[in-house]
Amino acid sequence: MSLEELTAFTDSLQESKYRAKQIHNWIYLKSVSDINQMTDISKSSREKMSQCAQVTDVKIKNRQISSDGTIKYLLEFADGNCVETVLMRFDNRANLTACVSSQVGCACNCKFCATAKLGFIRNLSPREIIEQVLTIQRDTGLKVTNIVFMGQGEPLLNLDNVLKAIDIFNIDFVIGIRRLTVSTCGIIPQIKRLAELDFQPTLAISLHAPNHELRKSLMPVENKYPIEELMTTLKDYVGVTGRRITIEYTLIKGFNDSVECAKQLAVLLIGLKANINLIIYNPNDQDDFEKPSKESIQKFKYILEQSGKKVTIRLERGADIDAACGQLSNKYK
Ligand code: SF4
Repeated sequence: MSLEELTAFTDSLQESKYRAKQIHNWIYLKSVSDINQMTDISKSSREKMSQCAQVTDVKIKNRQISSDGTIKYLLEFADGNCVETVLMRFDNRANLTACVSSQVGCACNCKFCATAKLGFIRNLSPREIIEQVLTIQRDTGLKVTNIVFMGQGEPLLNLDNVLKAIDIFNIDFVIGIRRLTVSTCGIIPQIKRLAELDFQPTLAISLHAPNHELRKSLMPVENKYPIEELMTTLKDYVGVTGRRITIEYTLIKGFNDSVECAKQLAVLLIGLKANINLIIYNPNDQDDFEKPSKESIQKFKYILEQSGKKVTIRLERGADIDAACGQLSNKYK
């Protein structure tokens, strides 16, 4: 709940507005998991609230810690459905980034993605999205500083709930809007909807191929929202919002990591205000793709840089616990 919703809640119990602020602090700043931990609220008020509310019903079903410090959680919701959530730390940065899921499973069926094998099960509610970050904060005692919607599910196919969660992250967790990133495989109507908002989270596009035919063989979404139309939509988006976008491109050996692909991508992105984030394919046990060679990665990066774009190679986190990009599959379950 936002502070406004908490105030409506405390009003309904004939509690003061100050109560709402106290509860808000306990949940979002002090990360408590139980109303009884809110020790500056009288016992009688806590008992009254406990009869009709609870802070959380999410269970940590499994927790894996990578040798690089990444933590992957398997979280179980009240209906028994589970999602994976990842906390990433980077040695030389103070940032703590939570990679959250937006759906149980996913309908998009990208060929390199372990989540796709689960199929689509259901959307997550705003509360279930927010609970992922609260659970991390409760479990580690740390404050998450950045959130990326790059876990399980396609966030733009659950946009209303994602936007509600983003509001709470922005206002109640006090995480700046530019530190909130939504990654999409390219759902064009919803990108247009994002462009109409008063302010936007950072938008990342999972492109992964430089032309229609290659992308179609990797990502079925290309059949519905082809790359040419996607590029036009992105240019319009940048024109309306002024925001730079991120193009994510997973390099897969022998598939999309050639010099020709790099040149095509450079041409495709001419005129688009975008940075490029190259992701090294992370093998999972559910497809036959392979990691690219170091030489092909460097060549690919060089060609894009020559075209004037800023190019970064995403640091691989948590691959030893299947927590890296494309590896989230609820394997434990
Ligand atoms: S990459 Fe993202 S959109 Fe594609 S299947 Fe996996 S979770 Fe869904």
